[in-house]
Amino acid sequence: MRTPEDELADLEAKHLRRRLRRIDSPQQPVVSIEDRDYLNFSSNDYLGLATDTRLKSALIEGVERFGAGAGASRLVCGTLGPNAELEEELAAFKRTEAGLTFSSGYATAMGTLAALAGKEDVIILDKWCHASLIDGARLSGATLRIFPHNDLDKLESHLAWAQARVKPSTGRVLVVTESIFSMDGDRAPLVEIVTLKERYGAWLMLDEAHAFGVLGDSGRGLAEACGIEDGRVDLQMGTLSKAAGLSGGYLCASRAVIDLLINRARSFIYSTAPPPAIVFAAKAAVRLIASEAGRELRDRLWRNVGNFAEGLSMEADSAIVPVILGENEAALAAAETLKEAGFLIPAIRYPTVPRGKARLRVTISSAHREAQVDALLAAMRDAGIGCPAS
Ligand SMILES: *Cc1c(COP(=O)(O)O)cnc(C)c1O
Repeated sequence: MRTPEDELADLEAKHLRRRLRRIDSPQQPVVSIEDRDYLNFSSNDYLGLATDTRLKSALIEGVERFGAGAGASRLVCGTLGPNAELEEELAAFKRTEAGLTFSSGYATAMGTLAALAGKEDVIILDKWCHASLIDGARLSGATLRIFPHNDLDKLESHLAWAQARVKPSTGRVLVVTESIFSMDGDRAPLVEIVTLKERYGAWLMLDEAHAFGVLGDSGRGLAEACGIEDGRVDLQMGTLSKAAGLSGGYLCASRAVIDLLINRARSFIYSTAPPPAIVFAAKAAVRLIASEAGRELRDRLWRNVGNFAEGLSMEADSAIVPVILGENEAALAAAETLKEAGFLIPAIRYPTVPRGKARLRVTISSAHREAQVDALLAAMRDAGIGCPAS
């Protein structure tokens, strides 16, 4: 039998072995590793809410009022008040009839896709979709079709193919894409995709993981930013673990879809509900994101993104700014050089990104100070990484 040691050695030889890094401070712009401070440009905490005092207070209040654990799956031991309220608020915020929360975004994607599609159906995905969407689509047993990233012509030909193949009365065709792609930070052409899926009578599942809290005047995401709401995006997915600063995932859709998920989504049915304090705090996070204070955080985030991108002579469509370096070794060496200079930026390699497209993935937060962003640009310039404009 092949040994795990052999497999690890193989990964090592290909510069693909990953290791966990221990951090002994909260996730914030400055983190502490082995008694040294680093400027952190690696987290998805886009609005700095992971350490926000308002959310910390909400978590503490949630523990005091509802205890530490949820007890069981919600179908077994019932839904605690804050969970029902969070789902109502999410649905109202996202302008859908109903919402359902899961213990993570990953569980949301897996549960939703496997519940809503089966052997007789077709799921059409963007090639760059997140692993959770791909895994959920595979688990569903549906026929999968992949279109090259943001390629509308190929999407349309898959839709035409699926329309001819799937029985309109009983089958289902699902298009799946993301608002902001997690490793490239670019956006999906949502208006065009919605037009196409409507023309072919398909549904659209949009994963707003990196756009929730970040895009749109109220932070609802790309659908808001593009003015495509009011039911036109059939399945609106997102996570509470990025800009919302906590953990958990959500799916907002029609009442019937949500009721069906309660009956069919196995990652919902067979998993204990998230700790009630998290759910209680998530309500506070959604309110904060929607409020004037949320808008101020978004303004600060976009100012930081603008400064960083300008320093690299790039355009940025989101808080994710990739610096593509090519080979695994190049990305690892750049990450190591910047670490020595006091910056924490992950090297992203295959299979998270295609071979030959290894990169540094810089993520910007509203919590970064302008001087911290400038310091990163200066360190990249010194190291000749990404050739920032001087
Ligand atoms: C992070 C992410 C997820 C998973 O969300 P978690 O809450 O972290 O499990 C799903 N989709 C996309 C696009 C993501 O970036």
